Amino acid sequence: MKAVYPGSFDPITNGHLDLLERAILLFDVTIAVAADSPKSILFSVEERIAMVREAIGSHFNLSERKRLSVVRFDGLLVTYLKQTGKPVILRGLRAVSDYEYELQLAHMNRRLFPEVETVFLVASPQYSFLSSSLVKEVIRLGGDISSMVPKPVETRLKAKIVGR
Ligand code: ADP
Repeated sequence: MKAVYPGSFDPITNGHLDLLERAILLFDVTIAVAADSPKSILFSVEERIAMVREAIGSHFNLSERKRLSVVRFDGLLVTYLKQTGKPVILRGLRAVSDYEYELQLAHMNRRLFPEVETVFLVASPQYSFLSSSLVKEVIRLGGDISSMVPKPVETRLKAKIVGR
């Protein structure tokens, strides 16, 4: 079965990778990187896609990588899902605070595309506190993020923040 894991991935973290590890036991997963995002974005969509590719390359073995692909999508996720005929959305739930937003999103997506089904996987406890925005905040203030993101992402984050 195929599923689409959409997000901003600004940048991809070890929490996303942990979710993917468990997701590929169930699905062939397409990671769909949103070109448009309501959030304030640090990396361009090209950079975010490159980081997802680098993270997959350094984290997963060859047979696991066969279960994973990466795409960019522009505009509404459901438009992409309708075009590709992949109506399963995969999302992660970290804490109760994620729940309300994710529920709204799932209902909205179903209203726009009734065949769509959203599947939630629960984050591992050690990553439940981890978000892309916190990682950006920590590195901006000079903290150590080496246990939070894959090495290639850490390198790019340092270059981006220091280069500013
Ligand atoms: P979005 O802007 O769509 O929320 P994100 O890249 O922040 O994009 O997140 C994409 C998905 O990954 C969301 O479902 C989010 O809940 C999930 N996610 C983010 N961080 C983690 C984590 N640490 N563990 C598990 N899932 C996560």
